Amino acid sequence: MDRSWELIPGDMPGAEWRIPVLRFKGNADGPPAYLQAALHADELPGVITIDALCARLRRAEAAGDIKGDITIVPWANPIGLQQQLHGAWQGRYDLDTRVNFNRDFPLIDRPDPALLAGPDAVMSAGARLKIKLLTLALPSEIILDLHCDEVSLLYLYIPSALWPGMQDLADAMDPGAVLAWGGEAGSAFDEACLTPWLRSGADLSGKVVSTVELRGRADIDAELAERDAEGLFRFLAGRGVIAGDPPQRRWSGPVAELDHIEMIRAPVGGAVCFVRVPGDHVEAGDLLATILVRPGEEGGAVPVRAPQAGLVMSRRDHGRAKPGEDMMKLVCGSRSATARPGPLEA
Ligand SMILES: [Zn+2]
Repeated sequence: MDRSWELIPGDMPGAEWRIPVLRFKGNADGPPAYLQAALHADELPGVITIDALCARLRRAEAAGDIKGDITIVPWANPIGLQQQLHGAWQGRYDLDTRVNFNRDFPLIDRPDPALLAGPDAVMSAGARLKIKLLTLALPSEIILDLHCDEVSLLYLYIPSALWPGMQDLADAMDPGAVLAWGGEAGSAFDEACLTPWLRSGADLSGKVVSTVELRGRADIDAELAERDAEGLFRFLAGRGVIAGDPPQRRWSGPVAELDHIEMIRAPVGGAVCFVRVPGDHVEAGDLLATILVRPGEEGGAVPVRAPQAGLVMSRRDHGRAKPGEDMMKLVCGSRSATARPGPLEA
């Protein structure tokens, strides 16, 4: 394994950001793969999963089992990683520009990093970071971006254009659900990795792009990391990136388009008491949570009910809500009456 650093100039003199890059050299007998974690810098389950995966990859390397080049960026966002505001991590949005670190990636017409802006272009460090990550990722046929939700099942975002071709990732990771997306996704990293292939008419057989949501933010657990690393290892083996056994089981969970996800929004502001947890199946009208608006008064709590039957996939990790704020995600069998175009979340 080789470890190097990619450098990004800071916006002002005296600052510079460093991205660690781990590389396993293949024997040119398999497709190249790229994995990154913590693009949203406060989402760390992917970081410890990569640590567990790299232990396996180093053993495979010693055995001569690496077939395709593997590039891994375990800390993809040093800018967000340093954003602390009075003890609270601010890893999702660039505090300077207010832009989500996983939006506004450049969308180019073919998978050629030469089409991206060069080092002389005038832009912020945050924009340079996105170009650097795309430059590292685009040469790979297989691209996995490891994120997490708040309190959540493991789930996968997979482009509709690559489903069911990517069934094997679900077989390997055993998600609670697969979310199939098409069209515009806010120029998220996964969209920016797939768009050049779609626009250029490149052959999509063998192509993999996924945002892997490794459960909730607090699910930083060695046992889960080992399980997820084993899944990723078997997936890479099945794809011929490394020698080894492919996933053994066939996954058959729910696959939902984004407009079949009910984003349960708070009707009022107050203290939230959730009565359902991720993994629960609910029927239309079932109570999901109550929002306490007038504590101590009769009728001071507002019930929040399921608009249709579905699987509770995730919920917020705190007990407060503002009117209109997303509280929960339900995977459902029918289109949500309140579905919005674009990505599920801001
Ligand atoms: Zn994320």
